[in-house]
Amino acid sequence: MNSQELFEESKKIIPGGVSSPVRAFKPYPFFVAKGEGSHIYDVDGNSYVDHCLAYGPLILGHADKTVVSDLTNQLTMGTAYGAPTENEIKLSREVINRIPSAEMVRFTNSGTEATMSAIRIARGFTKRDKIVKFEGAYHGAHDYCLVKGGSGAACLPDSLGIPLDTTKNTLTVPFNDEEALTELIEKEGENIACIIMEVVMGNIGCVEPKDGYLEFLRKITEENGIVLIFDEVITGFRLATGGAQEYYGVTPDMTTLGKIVGGGLPMGAFCGKKEIMELVAPNGPVYQAGTFSGNPISVQAGLSTLKQLNNDFYTSLNKKGEFLRSNICDIVDELSLDISPVGLGSMFQIYFNPNEVTNYAEAQESDSERFLVYFRQLLKEGVFIPPSQFECNFISSAHKMEDLEKTVNAIRKSLKVAFEL
Ligand code: PMP
Repeated sequence: MNSQELFEESKKIIPGGVSSPVRAFKPYPFFVAKGEGSHIYDVDGNSYVDHCLAYGPLILGHADKTVVSDLTNQLTMGTAYGAPTENEIKLSREVINRIPSAEMVRFTNSGTEATMSAIRIARGFTKRDKIVKFEGAYHGAHDYCLVKGGSGAACLPDSLGIPLDTTKNTLTVPFNDEEALTELIEKEGENIACIIMEVVMGNIGCVEPKDGYLEFLRKITEENGIVLIFDEVITGFRLATGGAQEYYGVTPDMTTLGKIVGGGLPMGAFCGKKEIMELVAPNGPVYQAGTFSGNPISVQAGLSTLKQLNNDFYTSLNKKGEFLRSNICDIVDELSLDISPVGLGSMFQIYFNPNEVTNYAEAQESDSERFLVYFRQLLKEGVFIPPSQFECNFISSAHKMEDLEKTVNAIRKSLKVAFEL
């Protein structure tokens, strides 16, 4: 069966035909045959330079040889034990040695679980109920954080099935707006357990914190006894060996990780100051658990991946990012387009928006319909990016110069098609 036929089949028995909503792009998503290095191959015989990279985890590209070989070895020794392993200590050490805020770590099975647990612990630590998130930030699909962006502090659930009672303690403010947060903290400060944030907002495209904003957040949270949580599910091990907190030089109280930490297998983690982490069961009264948490397969994939990520690795990877971004800027100039290329490190995106995007409301003003024309043309040119204006594109170490040159040419052609030039 080809992708179109598989999608028809799939829709009959899987809601929307996919296991996660963003994958269901129109007219139908390609079905994957395999991934190899910088490329993903569909069942219809097409290959694509992959800049989706499973939405971020595959920093070494698909099926990295060392990871595959270590995993094959581990598979023969079992896939789940329900008992601790030495590799969990090794991986914890890798995390602690890299992430500035990490003094202790607990592994979970996804980024969603990591943020859900970190919030519970922050609430347990502060004995406060309210939490603050930023409009448009995504911290996974659990009930505390699926709160409508752009609704101020109205706390409306963003999905049916979430009781208002659950989200009434979730307050939202616009990103990069010191005044709005200061006002909220003046009013609610003593009831706020934590501020959870994507340091770089990768779930509305790619929005960086303004100069001084992270320092402001660090100061105001310290002054008000609020736990500052950096959700580094995307940026952890992506922007630098120590994540966005190393990149920007601001250390939070807690950090959530996912994606790269599991080396392409399902995993998340939360880490932070010892005095906070010691509250987690069985040491303390904050319950957190998981049958597959710290399973030997994900842990091995994480270890085999992190071992390859040293400073030289990031220098070389980020150079590829600079190459791509400067070429995109040149194309935008050459075609005289009023759109805004963004990105840093090995992350990139183009806002179909003439203005600088600094928060969710501004991102929403982008021409996301035209973006989809660009996306579909990129696919025809053999380049795969996430099918949304509000996701980020990635580069892996497996991308070679010839891949990036292909991407640049595909972007030129696709922008021309999208803008009917
Ligand atoms: N936090 C952020 C910043 C994310 O980007 C994501 C997933 N894209 C999550 C949390 C949730 O992670 P997962 O999908 O592994 O549950």
